Amino acid sequence: MRVRACRLPAMRQPVWLAPMVLCACATARPASAKPAAPVHYRVDLSAPASQYMHVEARIPSRSTRTKLALPAWTPGSYRIRDFSKHVFGFSAESLDGKTLEVEALDKQTWEVRNGGRPFVVRYRVYTATASVRTSMLDDTHASINGASVFVFEPGKLRRPHSVELSAPEGWSVHTALPSRDGSLVADDYDILVDSPIEVGTPIVDRFELEGTAFEYVLTSPDDLQLDQARLVEESKAISGAFAEMMGGFPMQRYVFLMNVGDVGGGGLEHADSTMMMMSRTAFDKDTGYDAAARLTAHEFFHLWNVKRIHDAALGPFDYRHENYSRLLWFHEGFTETMESLAMRRSGLWTSKEYLDHIAGALTGFERKPGRDAMPLSEVSFRAWTHAYQPENNHRNETVSYYEKGDIIGVALDLKIRLASHGKGSLPGVFRRLMKRFGAVGKGITAADIERAASDEAGVDLADFFARHVDGVEPVPLVALLEEAGIGVKSRPAWLRPDGTDAPRAASKRAWAGLQLQGTTVRNVTPGSPAEASALMRGDEVIAVQGRRVKTEAALRAALGRVGPGHRATLTAFRGSRLVDLDVELQDNPHRIVTLALPTEPGPVLRSWLALD
Ligand SMILES: [Zn+2]
Repeated sequence: MRVRACRLPAMRQPVWLAPMVLCACATARPASAKPAAPVHYRVDLSAPASQYMHVEARIPSRSTRTKLALPAWTPGSYRIRDFSKHVFGFSAESLDGKTLEVEALDKQTWEVRNGGRPFVVRYRVYTATASVRTSMLDDTHASINGASVFVFEPGKLRRPHSVELSAPEGWSVHTALPSRDGSLVADDYDILVDSPIEVGTPIVDRFELEGTAFEYVLTSPDDLQLDQARLVEESKAISGAFAEMMGGFPMQRYVFLMNVGDVGGGGLEHADSTMMMMSRTAFDKDTGYDAAARLTAHEFFHLWNVKRIHDAALGPFDYRHENYSRLLWFHEGFTETMESLAMRRSGLWTSKEYLDHIAGALTGFERKPGRDAMPLSEVSFRAWTHAYQPENNHRNETVSYYEKGDIIGVALDLKIRLASHGKGSLPGVFRRLMKRFGAVGKGITAADIERAASDEAGVDLADFFARHVDGVEPVPLVALLEEAGIGVKSRPAWLRPDGTDAPRAASKRAWAGLQLQGTTVRNVTPGSPAEASALMRGDEVIAVQGRRVKTEAALRAALGRVGPGHRATLTAFRGSRLVDLDVELQDNPHRIVTLALPTEPGPVLRSWLALD
């Protein structure tokens, strides 16, 4: 058990914190050449139990009326979240303390009549949601995602922004932002909101790699026994693997912020840091560390893919509206592919574990009825209404750009390696894009990705993208794996590898094409027996063959007892009506894919799987 001293003041008595933890390394970004007056924020966290952050912002405006807005979304998470819904008590004052008139213009914009003089606004933000996309304050720590807390002046983002923090005694500040004169400083608003700030009593480890200083900042419950050394070592191994694949790091300092708490939350990428959240229960099993390493690898690689190499539509951002990209299959899906490569290259996965991972991805992907229903570029474009707002029919109509993007990423990696006889690779594509675009701050297009991939392969790959990204032709991953010499096998979903029945084989074999949530039909697979029998989404199945079923397992077991080739009578509530439906069960068409190395792998396989 780790004991942390943390005495909380009863009420707000602001103690303005010096961001001491990061003073030694305040070199994340070059200082602005022109010392323009900054927007200066003071964020008071000293009443943590209230879960309100009290914000004061000094705005150096010379306009007679000044608009201020809060972002509607946060970069990296493509959904309108309307952070302004958590803002209360918005008021404005002149520097000599006179109240200024404020008018709300829309859901997220206020106009202050400041008469051509700098002024101060004050508001409080309710921060009770534990998520990497929002801000959170409780009696143990604060996580600040700037987009949900800091107002900005539209059209005036390219000027310095600085932040002072006050917090309960004993709390310290951790962020990729450098500090100057007791404040965190950012050259512009984009950098400010791209730098999450963790305030609390975390345990901090540091290491250096390839001349870059790393911090691993772990916030976790006192009573949770976590192997911090392992988390740090594995993050170091992953960082090293990426340095090797990408030819070093483009930053001098990087901060891993890891919060382990009651709920999981994934991760959010930033240019020089990442905010990650995992559930404490994830670490009940050893697989929690594997999940942490994968999350770390994914978010870390984003420092290249999407933060520096990015769709021109994704930066500079329009914080008040959707920013549409057709490249999320590349930014997210290929980041998944690179995450797995890093797991192998860091030594955290064996070559067998890496192949098992791809086999698992293929097995899962082939079960998705919508896998080839919509071009992946369109899936990406529609992320704002689809990705974070799933509906029951989406499984048939669309697919995750993470999941299919990864399948395409592995296929492209193999295609390049095969075409170039092992000289080129997917990491090589990223090195090219980094050099031509990321390093010079230029956005990319789909054509730039195609060109880099073709250059890396030494053959024109435009057709590959036309078929599988802009078109809906099935991705030829199995054929590419076989061409590379990998043994690809598959078996029915109800059998073990040795051909004997798996546990609950009858349940797994009898297939109706139902996706269930409990005993309620969530989705009906196109072309399935359930569709032929006119089952509907929302049907609540209460009996099979006249026998009551209360759980999904019981329902599937009952179908298993009827068996493929036979008709099962399902009794269901459709709304308040009771209906009987006959379903002719089939053999489950889903197969489990396994991959195996040949006895003598050739050079392409040796380099792909890091066998030497
Ligand atoms: Zn991602």
